[in-house]
Amino acid sequence: MPSNSSTVTHTLSGAGIGRGLAVGRVVRMPEPLPEPASTPSTLSVEAELSRASAALAATAADIRERGTRAGGTAHDVLEAQAFMAEDPTLADDVETRLQGGLTAERAVFEAFASFRDLLVSMGGYMGERATDLDDVSQRVVAHLQGVAAPGIPDPDYAFVLVARDLAPADTALLDLDKVLALVTSDGGPTSHTAILARDKAIVAVVGAPDALRLAEGETVIVDAAAGTVTVAPSTDEIAAAEADLAERRARPVAALGAGALADGTAVALLANLGSADAAADAVAKGAEGVGLFRTEFLFLDAQTAPTVEAQQEQYTRLLAAFPGRKVVVRALDAGADKPLSFLNDSPEENPALGLRGLRALRANEQILRDQLTALAGADAATDADLWVMAPMVSTVEETRYFTGLGRELGLQTLGVMVEVPSAALLADRILADADFASIGTNDLTQYTLAADRLLGSVAAFQDPWHPAVLRLVGEVGRAGASLGKPVGVCGEAAADPLLAVVLVGLGVTSLSMSPAALADVRSELSLYTLAQAKEFADVALAANSAFEARAAVLEATTHATPITGS
Ligand code: PEP
Ligand code: MG
Repeated sequence: MPSNSSTVTHTLSGAGIGRGLAVGRVVRMPEPLPEPASTPSTLSVEAELSRASAALAATAADIRERGTRAGGTAHDVLEAQAFMAEDPTLADDVETRLQGGLTAERAVFEAFASFRDLLVSMGGYMGERATDLDDVSQRVVAHLQGVAAPGIPDPDYAFVLVARDLAPADTALLDLDKVLALVTSDGGPTSHTAILARDKAIVAVVGAPDALRLAEGETVIVDAAAGTVTVAPSTDEIAAAEADLAERRARPVAALGAGALADGTAVALLANLGSADAAADAVAKGAEGVGLFRTEFLFLDAQTAPTVEAQQEQYTRLLAAFPGRKVVVRALDAGADKPLSFLNDSPEENPALGLRGLRALRANEQILRDQLTALAGADAATDADLWVMAPMVSTVEETRYFTGLGRELGLQTLGVMVEVPSAALLADRILADADFASIGTNDLTQYTLAADRLLGSVAAFQDPWHPAVLRLVGEVGRAGASLGKPVGVCGEAAADPLLAVVLVGLGVTSLSMSPAALADVRSELSLYTLAQAKEFADVALAANSAFEARAAVLEATTHATPITGS
């Protein structure tokens, strides 16, 4: 159990996401509440009944008020949750249990649990409400115990959120006016929490082991570029950080333009997006198109599969923002840390190795058909150059299945993500069928090094500079070059400016990243020729470790002949 007072040293270290900086007070994500004890109540039944009724009513009012503030879809979801807290059958069940001598906490807990079991046994839509019910139950019990309700805290000031980790659904809903920065003890730099943080330009340091020892309310400086959290900073340190922030805000925006090496070799610079709302910002930051649209981020909260119409509306909005430009949309990548309740219904011991990505879609083919149909409809209604790819492909046969189905449903350009070593090793055969490949270096690193991308304890293995990963990238680059098929990278590796040059040297033809990273990658690419990029790639491949590869390439750049332009 983390202590509530800070006993941490002056600076914590973790993996910084992006290059942002923030100064603010710590607010900790509450731990889930333990099950209330079943010891008999010392109060009268009437007293417990009035506590329970008051807590249920207050919880309903609180949830309803949050819904009104949030608006949109969240409003409907929260309204339904408020009704759960007001359900008369549930109130009767609580009362019956109180008559048996239980505390209000225990009676509420048991009544909700039995309601939950009933919903689960009904299956389908009702079964999917069970998680919502658990959330309401925790909120009522928290109210009775006078402790913070679980979920993202909502104080009336901006804060630095400290958590073990966040569910992607929580990260996606973070209020950016309130959350100055995010610090987690778990999760590596390629966890989906980190990716969403990068996507939303949230200043973040993840995988900082001592994070849970930060005390509520204490001031910290979070420096993502350095991967540090300064605890109890001095007034001088705070003043320096604030001056730095002011200077960053005043900085002119770097020049935009198509990505290219110093010798003019084009390297398309594309954006990774999780919602059409982010399109305008990506264009403003110079994205030449979209290299990865993570469709599953649209539906993290959905309890049922989205309709063709609802999807077509979202995809049309996205494509309409990129007329004449390439937009690569990925079919739903559900599973592991991005479970979708309508696609992943049975628990697995090792979900990253389970029914994830294309495997889950194939087991629910109608959902895949609906998505591809919606994409074909959006394509017909807009002028973007739509490319569609499948996640987590591991065999040639899966490639044929996906491209065949996509063509049957009217899509023109169909490809696969290379995230599993088997797909990289057979890239020549996969690309004989697929129109393009996009390398997901986050998962490719996870599977090559056998290191869970969510685990802070193995985050050091999760480094795409590792020569084993680069060798696999080289396989795909070579296959693409010999077959004349494009090979992109859309994992976080593409956002590392120096590694981006190495990836191009390995045969990668486009790079897709969080829009915030585009400017730095664009300027680094412009410094070197293709011959130099290939030379750096050879240097990296010859190293024994990620650390050595990075150091050796850095060293090689200092000897590289400066490009003076012609
Ligand atoms: C990847 O694995 O590199 C990738 C881009 O996919 P995701 O991060 O969404 O798993
Ligand atoms: Mg992936």
